[in-house]
Amino acid sequence: MHVMRNPGLAEIFLVNPRRSPDVLARLADYRLRRLVAYAYEHVPLYRERWRAAGVSPRDIRSRADLPLLPMVDKDAIVDAGAEAWSSERPARGLIEMRTSGTSGRAIHVVRTIREIRVMRRAILRHYHQLGMMPWNDTVTVASGWLKAKGAFIGRVAHTRHIEPDMPLDEQVAILAAFRPVAIVGQTGALYLLARELLRRRAPYWMRWVVPTGATLMPEMRQAMRSAFGSDPCDMYGAVEVGPIAWQCSRGSYHVDADRIIVEIVDEDGRPRPPGQPGQVVITNLHSWTMPFIRYRLLDVAACLPDVCGCGCRFPLMGAVRGRINDFLPTPSGELVSPHFFFHLFDDAAHNPVKDWRITQEGPAHLVYEYVPERQFFDPAALARGLDRVRQRFGADCRLEARAVDHLPLTPAGKRRCIVSKLRPEAKPWDEVWIRPLDEAPSVPGGAGNGYGGR
Ligand SMILES: [Zn+2]
Repeated sequence: MHVMRNPGLAEIFLVNPRRSPDVLARLADYRLRRLVAYAYEHVPLYRERWRAAGVSPRDIRSRADLPLLPMVDKDAIVDAGAEAWSSERPARGLIEMRTSGTSGRAIHVVRTIREIRVMRRAILRHYHQLGMMPWNDTVTVASGWLKAKGAFIGRVAHTRHIEPDMPLDEQVAILAAFRPVAIVGQTGALYLLARELLRRRAPYWMRWVVPTGATLMPEMRQAMRSAFGSDPCDMYGAVEVGPIAWQCSRGSYHVDADRIIVEIVDEDGRPRPPGQPGQVVITNLHSWTMPFIRYRLLDVAACLPDVCGCGCRFPLMGAVRGRINDFLPTPSGELVSPHFFFHLFDDAAHNPVKDWRITQEGPAHLVYEYVPERQFFDPAALARGLDRVRQRFGADCRLEARAVDHLPLTPAGKRRCIVSKLRPEAKPWDEVWIRPLDEAPSVPGGAGNGYGGR
């Protein structure tokens, strides 16, 4: 039970988001010092890197000292292997989650149930901030994998589950039968459901719409607003670190600042001025079993110096920039969510690819480039994954697969794994049928769907 001893009570409780920023900053700095001291002593991955950089835990007194520590990323963690983590892990009672995300390589993230509960509490705090209550009927849309692992989407009492791969007819039928007032879950799946409702000209008004797990792009926000009659309140997060920032009812992204430190940095890890976009680097103050300290997500966003009028004092950041091009149309015009590609190798023991990129060269031509995983390359798993792509896009679509040595990042340092060469105006999401329904009242407060204001 070593790990249970370490976090202590101070690491368990979340803070009232209305507390003063000074209290919050002192608490975060205190947690940071403890976490850094623990990681230095028990986690070889960090100890070795920090020693090589000539830094000791005593040098890290507050968040302002973080740039002294080298950053880590997914590749560094996968390459380091299991031995790089704490030898103090308890042998039992650990919960394993697997990242999907934009790189082929998956990290097996290990947490104690207590650490998971902290994340879950952060999610519930977001719902609470929005005025959602446990008795509000809620639909969750998440992959079976998340559901099976009991992970954190949708622990609200009155819930019904929708599998993102479920046919849209069935998804619409569940809405009609269950009559939820809230929908939370995978951003891509919520978007596709919203589009289907718009296509049928049958919007279904929700009081709350909370997408998570992928960048919420303006086109997606617009479709959800039209289909569900409420402005979506995005939750930005990652499997590795849990929720990072969430949108309040005024639309600002508040950093989950008692659990997470967000830095916005340049390529060398130096802070960018407020308002200037840079790479998102995360330190999770609540994960001790598998600490993430200065973990680079390959997302691009900015810190904002403003104060939000909603009353929450958690600091603000801008939306993560994403691309609608990540949805690829099949030759028959159906849209495939980026999550489909993220989960191609879920059935394999190891992802056969270290990195990948899919490029839509034309309406019926895909190119899949991949960097094979050296140690665990499994050609059968790769073939199964590619077959799934062929099935999804249909026999009319040509799929070329190519092994490469390395895939470049964009100049901004972002990994682009889904590339479309179709002209935006040729894409189905610009169809006129989205437009007229935008005239429907936008509903922060849900007026018109029978649930009234707060
Ligand atoms: Zn706010």
